[in-house]
Amino acid sequence: MAGGGAAGFFAAIMCAEKLRGTGGITLLERGPQFLAKVKISGGGRCNITHGCFEPRAFAERYPRGERALIGAFHRFQAADTVRWFESRGVKLKTEPDGRMFPITDNSQTVIDCLLRAATDAGVKLQTQRGVERVTRGAEVGFELTLNTGEKILCNKLLLATGGCRAAAGGALAVSLGHTLASPVPSLFTFHVSDARVTGLSGVAVERATVSVPGTKLSETGPVLVTHWGLSGPAILRLSAWGARELHAMNYQFPLRVNWLPGENFASATKLVQAQREKFVARKIWNAPLSEVPVRLWERLAEAAGLTSEARWATLTRNATHALARQLIESEFRITGKSLNKDEFVTCGGVKLNEVDFRTMESRVCPGLFFAGELLDIDGITGGFNFQAAWTTGWIAGLAMTGQPAACEQ
Ligand SMILES: Cc1cc2nc3c(=O)[nH]c(=O)nc-3n(C[C@H](O)[C@H](O)[C@H](O)COP(=O)(O)OP(=O)(O)OC[C@H]3O[C@@H](n4cnc5c(N)ncnc54)[C@H](O)[C@@H]3O)c2cc1C
Repeated sequence: MAGGGAAGFFAAIMCAEKLRGTGGITLLERGPQFLAKVKISGGGRCNITHGCFEPRAFAERYPRGERALIGAFHRFQAADTVRWFESRGVKLKTEPDGRMFPITDNSQTVIDCLLRAATDAGVKLQTQRGVERVTRGAEVGFELTLNTGEKILCNKLLLATGGCRAAAGGALAVSLGHTLASPVPSLFTFHVSDARVTGLSGVAVERATVSVPGTKLSETGPVLVTHWGLSGPAILRLSAWGARELHAMNYQFPLRVNWLPGENFASATKLVQAQREKFVARKIWNAPLSEVPVRLWERLAEAAGLTSEARWATLTRNATHALARQLIESEFRITGKSLNKDEFVTCGGVKLNEVDFRTMESRVCPGLFFAGELLDIDGITGGFNFQAAWTTGWIAGLAMTGQPAACEQ
């Protein structure tokens, strides 16, 4: 098995446990550490999965891979992940937004669990042994050339080498006849240079609708102002669903923000008028609508042409309309993107129609299996990316034993 990340570990453990110590499973990791991404995941807490236990609804959280994953989640879904970890001593908790973490809030708990399970099952764990090249054996199996110069023969091979951010990451799969959906980033934040948000880093709006005019891209949820522009769950989801479209626009596009989701120009105008009546003697900057944080409100009012001294009593019809427009359709010019430090993934990878999702075996090269982010699968934030790795790893590991599919863990 190549790749000592979440998917490689799940596959290796599953396979070794089923074969009950008959040996023969080696997990090769190119880097100096196993599970390096698990370590840094979820801000060091590891958002293992998401508290949604209906396979179809869970699969809807994948901009790429939804259809292929529905069946896979019927075999091994979030509830199975929870049971899997809890039966090995890692208790999970669910946060109000559905994200599930170990109760220790420490990703090392997950790493320790996976290392222990792999060792107990007899998996041979080897770091600093990367697979450089793979060729098919004359009859069956594969010959691997490692970065140490060694050559290894194996009957079956799992590639779980992670997201192929650069096309080279998918080179092994390509060398065995596979094609890649071209890799582009997903889960990123937006650069904005605009007086309405400059200097407001840390200001959070609980619910806003963000959309890209001229596309179907639209998301509603929390939005966070950062040093460079805009972030938060709604922006990250938009970046995931729009990963390809936004890449094609070279990350230069207009972004429309409705700071009052569900309201339109007419209803926002009424809200502004009602605010005027309620706070007639107060300064507009000091009496915001409750949904809008006061510092952002000041900037929107300023953009609508209202000075810090203007009072509600002096608000003209035109200014009412200008303020309503800022509230429901502030338009920003996005000029680039930044990595989201908490979680990012690659959109693209091994094309899904080349893989049999009942086994995760290649349809192109028998004996070759895939799991994890190397596939053209990626989810929105919230534990969905790890769940795809656990599920595809579990299915691949089971299939590699050659035993019939079973529903138990
Ligand atoms: C900062 C960050 C935080 C994240 N947080 C979360 C989170 O909280 N929840 C969530 O669901 N998702 C999260 N993700 C996404 C999640 O980490 C990935 O989707 C997941 O790790 C994919 O697992 P994988 O096993 O497919 O790949 P990886 O975890 O990337 O593992 C692949 C492994 O293969 C090794 N490798 C590569 N090439 C070779 C080779 N030729 N030979 C041998 N080994 C090789 C790599 O060194 C690596 O260790 C986060 C991602 C990042 C970057």
